[in-house]
Amino acid sequence: MLEKTFQSLGTLNHIRIFDSDDERILYKAQARVAEINDRMSAFKSDSDIGRLNANSGKSPVAVSQDTFRVLEQAVDFSEVSHGAFDCTVRPLVELWGIGKKLNFIPTAAEVAKAKSKIGYKDIVLDPKKSTALLRHHGQAMDLGGIAKGFAADETRRVLIENGVKSAIINLGGNIIALGKRPDGQSWRIGIQNPVKQTGRHIAVLCLEDKTIVTSASNERFFIKDGVRYHHLIDPRTGYPADTSLLSVTIVCENSMHADALSTALFVMGKSQCEPLLSAYRALAVFIEEDLTCSFSNKLRKNENEEIVVL
Ligand code: AMP
Ligand code: MG
Repeated sequence: MLEKTFQSLGTLNHIRIFDSDDERILYKAQARVAEINDRMSAFKSDSDIGRLNANSGKSPVAVSQDTFRVLEQAVDFSEVSHGAFDCTVRPLVELWGIGKKLNFIPTAAEVAKAKSKIGYKDIVLDPKKSTALLRHHGQAMDLGGIAKGFAADETRRVLIENGVKSAIINLGGNIIALGKRPDGQSWRIGIQNPVKQTGRHIAVLCLEDKTIVTSASNERFFIKDGVRYHHLIDPRTGYPADTSLLSVTIVCENSMHADALSTALFVMGKSQCEPLLSAYRALAVFIEEDLTCSFSNKLRKNENEEIVVL
């Protein structure tokens, strides 16, 4: 078995390959993830997204094919979720600073000001020139809810191109279970219990060749006066999404879709999910505030209490 852990995309990444001993594959995969980070990080002033944000309200910016693809998808998901997912959410993400500022709650006026800058309809994409523009000064993109999924898909591509058939890719919780386990069985992937320490599972998924992506309010949060303030912001209110969910896990083929869907569906809430799940042929596991676990159709529990994909 080959494995590698590395920091990128603002998170910890872990790749395990079970059917090759060619270390070069790991390095190629890591280099591809680093390339995507260099292009899409909102924290690097020379990344595509850094330059796009610095030029908001001014002039279109030429971006790489990678970034253009993710931007197109991010706009699509913003549209189909009617703005529950909104890739221009950055001013609100910055204001709240969940995980950065210490237990900070902005005033209603500050929230309203940041919220007025949000609007995916203000993204102008030119596919011929591969340029992007945000119409108004102060607007800013945030691909944090979708870029890890793209990077996971690209990592899988690198592995498959190099002959790998059995691997687990985990980019900060964006998981792809490639093929089957070396013993020929399905993979078992745990869903984190949102209120227990890392590694304690509330359910186990039993599957092959799928991506599993979770958005959860226990990743970055604080609690004040009984209210949980977390990093999944509802762009329509300007406040952390309040949907009685602790986590949403998406299972499907494409990790970029799963990533955007998990963020979107967390914000939208369980009752609104079915049309998007069927549109993207995705399955979902929901954990509610009272820790009840429910799942979409095409998933059921087997005799070992594992959730299997039908
Ligand atoms: P994830 O963990 O994939 O659900 O993504 C969370 C990240 O997506 C946050 O840290 C923000 O950078 C960004 N984000 C937060 N709220 C939204 C939203 N409503 N739409 C799009 N991106 C968001
Ligand atoms: Mg996401």
